[in-house]
Amino acid sequence: MVEHAFAKINLTLDVMGRRPDGYHEVDMVMQTIDLADVLTLEEDPAGAITLEANASSVPLDERNLAHVAARVFRANSGVNRGVRILIDKQIPVAAGLAGGSADAAAVLRGLNRLWGTGKTTDELAAWGAAIGSDVPFCVRRGCAVARGRGERLEPVNHRMHAWVVLVRPPVFVSTGDVYGALRAEEYSRRPRSPEMVRALAAGDFEAVRAGVHNVLAPVTFRLYPEVARLAERVRHVAGVPVHMSGSGPTLFCLLPTRGSAQRVYHALRGFMREVYLCRFLPSALAPPRGGRPSVEP
Ligand code: ATP
Repeated sequence: MVEHAFAKINLTLDVMGRRPDGYHEVDMVMQTIDLADVLTLEEDPAGAITLEANASSVPLDERNLAHVAARVFRANSGVNRGVRILIDKQIPVAAGLAGGSADAAAVLRGLNRLWGTGKTTDELAAWGAAIGSDVPFCVRRGCAVARGRGERLEPVNHRMHAWVVLVRPPVFVSTGDVYGALRAEEYSRRPRSPEMVRALAAGDFEAVRAGVHNVLAPVTFRLYPEVARLAERVRHVAGVPVHMSGSGPTLFCLLPTRGSAQRVYHALRGFMREVYLCRFLPSALAPPRGGRPSVEP
């Protein structure tokens, strides 16, 4: 059985403050894009949970979020069967694209099908919150405003078809360090999500692009000046605004048409190794046809 694990980008990311439990209170608009890991799940007759992946940058033991998800699924469902999980990793790792959370969500959805447990999306999303803050969103996919630690979701239904060119700088960014370096005076006074939701609902591409905002971007740029330099270069070459997803370092540009996105993609390929051309996945997610989603080229 094949399950796709789609990446997300942040259209907005506001940090509203620090909570007594040490987590930051966020308010963000997350959008699923059609860049996906492909997970294959097979029954393991021996009853074990095993994992294989085509990437050396992810752990292949019980620390892998896909493995965690299989254990969480077994504990919550009471089904004690085994599964062999194969991950074809396409989403850059530790990049602000929620690749690990997407894999965990794909395992929850996939085991629900494989073992015929008939759990609802709500139930799977609730189980996912115990794995990571972004997992509930990755279970649902589409577009949503996420609050709390990121697990409290309000779906956003829109029909915007935007193209996304992603650039993954060759820099390792620690999410913990970025949040840790965020100063209290940098917290957001008001969330940008209401404006973004209005722009998406109105199908106003220019307003969406103008409304993209990430309060962590200046922090990541301060800690990793090479990411700031690259962002400036990308902006110059692309000729459109450049944004950052999550805590980075992935940068992205939004484009209204496939042709304009292809031009930016090819221009950036001239000096960057990791560039991806993708697009928004619609809110009412259609299952991908013919196996792989349309990640180009
Ligand atoms: P976040 O923004 O939630 O910190 P991210 O998108 O920046 O996540 P991920 O690709 O999810 O980053 O990886 C974060 C860490 O999780 C990495 O250090 C990686 O080793 C670990 N990890 C565990 N399982 C996975 C997985 N299946 N895919 C990717 N990373 C995983």
